[in-house]
Amino acid sequence: MAVSFNDKDIYNQKFNPRAHLDRYYSSKDGALVNDKYLEFVLKQLAKTFTAGVVEGETLIDIGTGLSIYQLLSACEVFKEIIVSDYSALCRQEFEKWLKKHPGTFDWSPVVRYVCDLEGQSEKSTQKEEKLRQRVKEILKCDVTQSQPLESSLPLSADCLLSSLCLEAACKDHDTYRRAIKNISTLLKPGGHLVMMGALEDTYYTVGDHRFSVLFYDAGFVRNALTGAGYIIKDFQVCPRPKDSAHSFSDYKGFFFVVACKETSSLTVLERIPIYGNPSFENSNQLNCGALKVSNKAIEPEERGTTGLLMPQDDNYKPEQNNGFNIAPGALPDW
Ligand code: SAH
Repeated sequence: MAVSFNDKDIYNQKFNPRAHLDRYYSSKDGALVNDKYLEFVLKQLAKTFTAGVVEGETLIDIGTGLSIYQLLSACEVFKEIIVSDYSALCRQEFEKWLKKHPGTFDWSPVVRYVCDLEGQSEKSTQKEEKLRQRVKEILKCDVTQSQPLESSLPLSADCLLSSLCLEAACKDHDTYRRAIKNISTLLKPGGHLVMMGALEDTYYTVGDHRFSVLFYDAGFVRNALTGAGYIIKDFQVCPRPKDSAHSFSDYKGFFFVVACKETSSLTVLERIPIYGNPSFENSNQLNCGALKVSNKAIEPEERGTTGLLMPQDDNYKPEQNNGFNIAPGALPDW
């Protein structure tokens, strides 16, 4: 019998963020340390954030949990970092790290490793402090909502970061595709999404509780991103080592992606009246039509992709138009 996907509220009840860190990120025996995930993503992150391509003022981390590893290179580039999570416990525990409560997880081996990667070994004592200063807010987030962040101000980031979150939050492939679009509303056009995730994974355990994970492969993630209007700039995969025998999770590997949100410059190629057009035989609306559009910002091999937009149709949903992000108000008049 198929096991159903857990509800997100399980993260408010059964997810112990400290036990999560101890099991997966402990320098002694952490599963994600032994399986080389941490080394893989820290190298990719250091490369990405020192190359000067992904930069700006504000970065939002989605589904932070209690982790800081994903922010260690980013804090050298971004002045403002907003962390977020669905779980209230994660947000409270993150605040404890921020306020240097005694007994929080020891990230110092990870911090030293990142400083070595960045060629700044001498700065390892200051890096964690620098990250604390950069973190401006800890917000509630739900990636399944069209407005994912609970914030009094509209937020617009230069970079979105997310590690191992969407596959834990999304019960099926459609929900995942929608979640990508939901979080993208927080990103400026031309901004970057930097994301890490588990491949071909169905569960992971924290303590003795088993959490569901959405099963997908690298091709699915790539399609979800291009479908949401991203240009993929870098996509790396790290397979699970053959000798990894633990049963804390059944992932087969991990991906790391850097993708740029299109600047949405749509060119109208053709206006197609619907009334009387045999291709739209079910339409009897006079005041309706379709636009054949091309987005010049997309990759050359995908140019010529078209979308049909029917702005005056009640069922018109901008997000269903081949991933083109068009606000209805931005459409030209007929
Ligand atoms: N980014 C961290 C934590 C990953 S664990 C890391 O790399 O270690 C998955 C995280 O996703 C948990 O902290 C969980 O609370 C959060 N999460 C689960 N459902 C979510 C949702 N719907 N929206 C936002 N975050 C969610």
